[in-house]
Amino acid sequence: MNTTLQTPIDYLKGVGPNRADLLRKELGIHTYQDLINLFPNRYIDRTHYYKISQLQRNNADVQIIGTIVKLEEVGEGRSKRLVATFKDDSSAMELVWFRGHKWIREGLKLNKPYVIFGRTNWFNGKFNMPHPEMEFIENHQKNLQSAMQPVYPSTEKLTNKGVTNRVIIKIMQQLFLETKGRFTETLSHNLLDELKLLGKSEALFNVHFPKNQELLARAQYRLKFEEFFYIQLQFIIKNLIHKSKIKGFPFTQVGTLFNTFYKEHLPFELTNAQKRVIKEIRADLGSNAQMNRLLQGDVGSGKTIVALMSMLMALDNGFQACLMAPTEILSVQHFNGLYELCKQLNINISLLTGSTKTSERNKIHESLENGELNILIGTHALLESKVKFKNLGLAIIDEQHRFGVAQRSKLWHKNSSPPHVLVMTATPIPRTLAMSIYGDLDISVIDELPPGRKAIKTVHRYDKNRLNVFKFLRDEISKGRQIYIVYPLIQESAAMDYKDLMDGYESIVRDFPLPDYQISIVHGKMKPADKDYEMQRFIKGETQIMVATTVIEVGVNVPNASVMIIESAERFGLSQLHQLRGRVGRGAEQSYCILMTSHKLSDDSKTRLQTMVRTNDGFEIAEVDLKLRGPGDLMGTQQSGVLNLKIADIIKDKDILQLARFYAKKILNNDPALIQNENKVLLETYKQLSKYKNIWNYIS
Ligand code: ADP
Ligand code: MG
Repeated sequence: MNTTLQTPIDYLKGVGPNRADLLRKELGIHTYQDLINLFPNRYIDRTHYYKISQLQRNNADVQIIGTIVKLEEVGEGRSKRLVATFKDDSSAMELVWFRGHKWIREGLKLNKPYVIFGRTNWFNGKFNMPHPEMEFIENHQKNLQSAMQPVYPSTEKLTNKGVTNRVIIKIMQQLFLETKGRFTETLSHNLLDELKLLGKSEALFNVHFPKNQELLARAQYRLKFEEFFYIQLQFIIKNLIHKSKIKGFPFTQVGTLFNTFYKEHLPFELTNAQKRVIKEIRADLGSNAQMNRLLQGDVGSGKTIVALMSMLMALDNGFQACLMAPTEILSVQHFNGLYELCKQLNINISLLTGSTKTSERNKIHESLENGELNILIGTHALLESKVKFKNLGLAIIDEQHRFGVAQRSKLWHKNSSPPHVLVMTATPIPRTLAMSIYGDLDISVIDELPPGRKAIKTVHRYDKNRLNVFKFLRDEISKGRQIYIVYPLIQESAAMDYKDLMDGYESIVRDFPLPDYQISIVHGKMKPADKDYEMQRFIKGETQIMVATTVIEVGVNVPNASVMIIESAERFGLSQLHQLRGRVGRGAEQSYCILMTSHKLSDDSKTRLQTMVRTNDGFEIAEVDLKLRGPGDLMGTQQSGVLNLKIADIIKDKDILQLARFYAKKILNNDPALIQNENKVLLETYKQLSKYKNIWNYIS
């Protein structure tokens, strides 16, 4: 049989049907190609030997030469284990096996020199090594030892079935033998030359069997670059195809409404970031392609005005626009705010939510279809099939993480041709991550807050400080301020969480009694109408304290609220804490965020709390969050899997990612179809990657 990299792994010498099965199930290795792309997690020095007397209690992998002087089974039943006393000329230690006693015992020889390798533990005053890798010293010396021996990803099952790291090294060596270590180059000569990258074969060899540190580093660099490069290439190609296939409505003019608003009704000077973003959007809308843009801006950065001015561009070109928000409250706030801003412009703007009355609803449907209505704002209600636009030119979606991608595309289909889409999110996603996850969207960032904002002061307090905290609240309320107190509600159904909330509410009612204090409460189990009523009382300033679960997380704007108390703050994720904190600091007053916790805190919780206290910068917070949680988790299950990277690390290697994106863009700019001779290898590889999806499984 002719060996190619697509050859099933069963055909490799030393891999029988059983091992092939294990490799498939445990590591997803089906072919030679999959095996070659199993990259080591780390490397260990197999030329160095420790003395037992030199061992430190830090659990590191060590290699020791010595002999077994005693072998016995100890313990009863489930705690039965095989224990060997292992000696070198400096001291003694124990080797321990919890499983497979019989065949291990039969294989072991007393008083014959072994080289053992593994992780040590310190237990009962001495060192032991569970399940060591063992070799007779003669055999060990026959094998070429390297200062950098690969350690491959493994699973317990693999090790238990005898497919140890040593076995994987052996079959990897076999693979290099059978292929003569020659692998098709997958990057163009231009790239290799310009970036001084190692060739494919050399990189693969040195990543598995590094000749020295420098070659290892260069091998890793090349492979990481390649991995990122093809992901980016894929995104950008998709994006180009999208742009060429899906014609947008070109908004050819910047018209009267936009200009009038800009010159006469703008309530404040735009920040430079806002100006830049509006320009980016304008360029998109003016082109022939359909816009698909993500607008990121921290809470309070002023996305609303950008949304409005984008909608005015649509109107100026004879189109309608809509703005969809995830909750009723938010939609109402958007409507009120935008209505106020557009009062002096001659345009029609309406609100449509689940609670819009039928008569009103019918009017909206009609005026939307005959084109009298210019702007429609609302909730998911906008997606109902009865809602038909005459000519929807621009759809804006606020707080995107509450809407699925499927809903996004529903909006698209409200027209013969899809409208331009602007997605706004206040969840700051590190740019590098956004590039890989929203690779199919263009990204604009408002990275500057309007001037004159007072930074929110954030502190961490323990439950025992509660009396002081309450005193502080009374002082703030006496100055006319309002306060949020938020309880975690991790799962809507968790009875415990409601109990915490209700207990908290009762204690607050006791400490802040009527008639001096009015308190609102809002949580997910309330009827929408009741929720709304309570919310409105707080918005109007009739209540001073709002006790709530995280339902208030998104977008709500009560400028007079200046204190945010977060109870059991250790139970919230970082981005959620940041979102919650963003509910205050919206007015002129100094605002505060108080993170209440119990005394018992995990290291991660401490990091989260310290980060919140240290900074208000959403992007910095997102970076920490990303480090703590990993990218898949950060994006939720919906998007996880996108970043199933083999060798690169989205955080540590973000510079390489940026470089890869830069080159992918540059190459496609000059040669969109990759037909130039120079780029044929890229096209070929790209096609291969798309064909054998299981090779590098980037895109779910
Ligand atoms: P978000 O990005 O969180 O949606 P908003 O659009 O609600 O932010 O803006 C937050 C507040 O800042 C609003 O009260 C808005 O009027 C105000 N604002 C927005 N842009 C500016 C600016 N350039 N100068 C001053 N205030 C601004
Ligand atoms: Mg907003």
